[in-house]
Amino acid sequence: MIETRDLSKRYGDLVAVDGIRFSVQPGQVLGFLGPNGAGKSTTMKMLAGFLTPSAGSASICGYDVVESALAAKRLVGYLPEGAPSYGEMSVRGFLEFVADVRGLSGDARRRQLDDAIGRLSLQGVMHQSIDTLSKGFKRRVGLAQAILHDPKVLILDEPTDGLDPNQKHEVRALIQAMAKDKTIIVSTHILEEVHAVCNRAIIIARGKVLADDTPSALEARSRFHQAVSLTAENAAAVRDVLVRIGDVAAVEIDAQDQRLTAFPRKGKAIFASVVEALRANAIQVREIALEQGRLDEVFRQITTSAQEAA
Ligand code: ADP
Repeated sequence: MIETRDLSKRYGDLVAVDGIRFSVQPGQVLGFLGPNGAGKSTTMKMLAGFLTPSAGSASICGYDVVESALAAKRLVGYLPEGAPSYGEMSVRGFLEFVADVRGLSGDARRRQLDDAIGRLSLQGVMHQSIDTLSKGFKRRVGLAQAILHDPKVLILDEPTDGLDPNQKHEVRALIQAMAKDKTIIVSTHILEEVHAVCNRAIIIARGKVLADDTPSALEARSRFHQAVSLTAENAAAVRDVLVRIGDVAAVEIDAQDQRLTAFPRKGKAIFASVVEALRANAIQVREIALEQGRLDEVFRQITTSAQEAA
């Protein structure tokens, strides 16, 4: 559905996107992760046909975004970062304008407008000018505009930026619902969002792809993967018990909340032996958890080592 081949973009001397290559299949919700300035927005703009690549190419459903720009654009809904332009227009005026640009007419036009307005709960602000809307509503108008023509491919640049927790939840639910019959790329710097909506994640930094995997496989790269964390009275004494377990590589105590974390030797599972050791030593735990791994730690590790290497 989406394919890039050595896609690159230069701004003068700056290489913002540096030979990115990936493809996205139907049903995938791809999370685009990276620090500020990594090249996420630039890549998305090229996919949406808003910027011309300096080198390499990209295609949407087989249509090259430069050579068959119109055909490619027809298949894409794009939510740019920030607020929609045309701030002086009313929400209704803007969405009707977009419907015209998208060539919608008759019943389909009415149906699609009603659908987008309903999905983004815009009924109460249809007559308000975009400039006077809250940040959250501006974002929702942008999303309505992106899904209006029911595109096969959605490219969403920070779709939940500026939304309150309830609105974030609604937008994530909307993305999940649309994922059934669309291919979606979502850029975000909110790692919990990757869990909530994505079944694949690409981490980019300095314009290069550094990791491309499922969110759980990325988490598995974390040193916290399969670690056991717990809280109990007298953390230091509990640590002395846990370090004696054969497959435990290290035990750390968090200085702030005295939480203990036991790290397994590579590839080992330690939960059962930790529980057994606690029982044998009559140690009462307040809570205990098996860690899946921490995406924020993996993200930091991958992106900072890229920075150091540069
Ligand atoms: P991200 O979306 O990951 O934050 P961007 O794609 O916006 O990153 O930017 C990538 C790099 O390109 C940054 O260093 C940014 O300053 C630079 N950049 C983006 N747009 C322009 C532009 N129009 N002119 C010059 N440099 C730009």
